Amino acid sequence: MKRNLLLTPGPTQVPPKLCAALGKPIIHHRTPQFQDNIKQVVEGLKEVHQTKNDIYILTSSGSGAMEAAVVNLVSQGDTVIAVDGGKFGERWVELCQTYKANTIIYKVQWGKAPQAAEIKKLLTSHPETKAVFITLAETSTGVTPDVKAIGEAVKDTKAVLVVDAVSGLAVQEIKTDEWHCDVVVSGSHKGLMLSPGLAFVSASPKAIALINQSTTPRYYFDLRECKKAMEKVDTPFTPAIGILIALVDSLNMIKKEGLQNMLARYAHLAKATRAGCQAIGLTLFPDPSCATNVLTAVNVPVGVDGEKLTKTMRDTYGITFAGGQDHLKGKVIRMAHMGALDEYDILTGLACLEKVLHQMGHKFELGAALTAAQKALNQK
Ligand SMILES: *Cc1c(COP(=O)(O)O)cnc(C)c1O
Repeated sequence: MKRNLLLTPGPTQVPPKLCAALGKPIIHHRTPQFQDNIKQVVEGLKEVHQTKNDIYILTSSGSGAMEAAVVNLVSQGDTVIAVDGGKFGERWVELCQTYKANTIIYKVQWGKAPQAAEIKKLLTSHPETKAVFITLAETSTGVTPDVKAIGEAVKDTKAVLVVDAVSGLAVQEIKTDEWHCDVVVSGSHKGLMLSPGLAFVSASPKAIALINQSTTPRYYFDLRECKKAMEKVDTPFTPAIGILIALVDSLNMIKKEGLQNMLARYAHLAKATRAGCQAIGLTLFPDPSCATNVLTAVNVPVGVDGEKLTKTMRDTYGITFAGGQDHLKGKVIRMAHMGALDEYDILTGLACLEKVLHQMGHKFELGAALTAAQKALNQK
């Protein structure tokens, strides 16, 4: 049987324990039994978000939570700032423009981090700004900005700070309250190690005030309804019941490992992955000073077809990496170290990368990536 190792930044590997949990019989959602699950999920998510804010549960992919953030916070003609340094920052821009916000785009070169000082400047020249949209881990480039510094820049203004933590949550630290992140959106199929289908939105009191003022029409994603329902330990519509039940186990797994231990595990895997790639002549795509722990994006060597590389790894050997998006198609490969992965998964991924790169004529010493990664893994 061919393996199916997902070293992709979502969906991620679902560990056997959670596969079993996903197979549990469905219970009715308007019952005390299900409410018990909701309660545990909300408590667990608050711990992972490091927040005391409200958390709302939506049934959608991660982008649904992004859309919910926009329709609930932004009214037509409002000024907003959207940081665009990759595919997901661009999604914020597109969402804000779709709902006719006066969208100030802070363009950042792919692979570089947005700067808090730049955001501060934009806020000073546009004091009417209602919201600032950023990405915790820009999955297309492998960049994590200094969210804490950006939070400092936004906190004393009228604007709320909205963070897309879909790929980052439970992988790359976010201290929602301490860093003044008013709204944080995430999903079930990345760091939380489950199938896609649930998305989450946390909202601070400052965000809730804006949610109540928004004049944008909304129905399914109306967070005012989510808030009302949540106060009764309920959801406005039928949620993805099976995923929510399994999420109780996922959050318990995180609790058992300890969030900080888990974050440290990913940082360690990221370091080893980078050392391995660099040892066979692959250069990091993002600026190393802002490289995320969620995934490693590296440049495909000149003369190697990046799309063929990832296709061969997947179709011949059952190991899936992500390729590049947009103008990086074929030029970048992305290896995630998030979700239910340990050091042997990383070593397996690197071994396969070596094998196929070697077959494709890239010159390096076979085993060099594994040696470097092993050494890095053994450094505590
Ligand atoms: C995966 C991802 C999303 C959401 O994607 P969906 O396909 O809608 O789940 C949003 N932002 C980032 C940074 C992501 O990595």
